[in-house]
Amino acid sequence: MLTESFVLFNTEISPGYRRMRLLVSEAFVRKAAPGRFVMLRVNDSTDPLLRRPFAVFDTGAASDGAYFEILYRVIGRGTAMLSEKKKGDILDILGPLGKGFSLDDSAGEKLLVGGGIGLAPLYALARKLREASSTVRLFAGGRVRGDILCADAFEAIGVECRFTTEDGSIGERALVTQPLVRHLESLDIGATIYACGPEAMLRAVAKIAACRAIPCQVSLESRMACGIGVCLGCVVPGRRHSVRTPDFRCVCAEGPVFDAREIDWKMSQ
Ligand SMILES: Cc1cc2nc3c(=O)[nH]c(=O)nc-3n(C[C@H](O)[C@H](O)[C@H](O)COP(=O)(O)OP(=O)(O)OC[C@H]3O[C@@H](n4cnc5c(N)ncnc54)[C@H](O)[C@@H]3O)c2cc1C
Repeated sequence: MLTESFVLFNTEISPGYRRMRLLVSEAFVRKAAPGRFVMLRVNDSTDPLLRRPFAVFDTGAASDGAYFEILYRVIGRGTAMLSEKKKGDILDILGPLGKGFSLDDSAGEKLLVGGGIGLAPLYALARKLREASSTVRLFAGGRVRGDILCADAFEAIGVECRFTTEDGSIGERALVTQPLVRHLESLDIGATIYACGPEAMLRAVAKIAACRAIPCQVSLESRMACGIGVCLGCVVPGRRHSVRTPDFRCVCAEGPVFDAREIDWKMSQ
């Protein structure tokens, strides 16, 4: 679906991070399931040529109409251009695209693990899980305090949050996997893990889940160009990959959310 949409706000929420709300149709909101993403054209000209992918952060309805939000980090040219958009500017959106999180209805706890901007797809997921009355815990990690985004929004919907930073400026001075492991060791009911963040964090979380036979879904953020499975620029090696029998998974069309067991984490190192 190709949509033209008005910017409702585009606010800096922490140094280098912004939250943008866009006016969209109700049909768009219905399709914007947690874990899916959009490809945004950040400029009217052909420079930069490629759209940039962003996860569904939140959707809803306000007085102006149905809306869709992204949470993003200003990291390069495309996101710098996006950061200059103002209320009333028009953005061209392709999406929602890809396969999102599977909402498993097992009784156990839902453990969300986010590193930095990896928190972006986890808020919409947390809302859906809380609507189904699940116990949801968030393990959010970053380098510094400013990387821990929208903590109040997670807490407001009843998510129990634990924070870690590398400098100890908020929460525990640790990697996000450390409180996760401690929590799993103390847990006497089942759990499902949903994770998004840097690849090294996802690899570690996948290993923790595999060792304990815990279901784990990961949202991958490989670099992508088309977003619709045509260019194959975003593929990652699948579990059965070998030189003789290539097994590549297309992050935009088959993901970005995968069962962590589907990915060959050794190959992606
Ligand atoms: C499915 C998907 C969902 C995403 N969701 C979000 C989101 O919700 N919020 C958000 O802030 N970002 C998200 N990203 C990453 C985002 O698309 C990139 O940060 C953005 O495209 C960078 O564009 P740029 O022009 O500013 O940077 P560029 O100038 O293209 O690159 C600047 C730097 O960023 C690095 N970079 C570029 N793209 C990626 C990427 N995909 N992953 C990691 N590093 C990258 C480059 O290696 C380079 O060092 C997502 C990526 C994918 C694939």
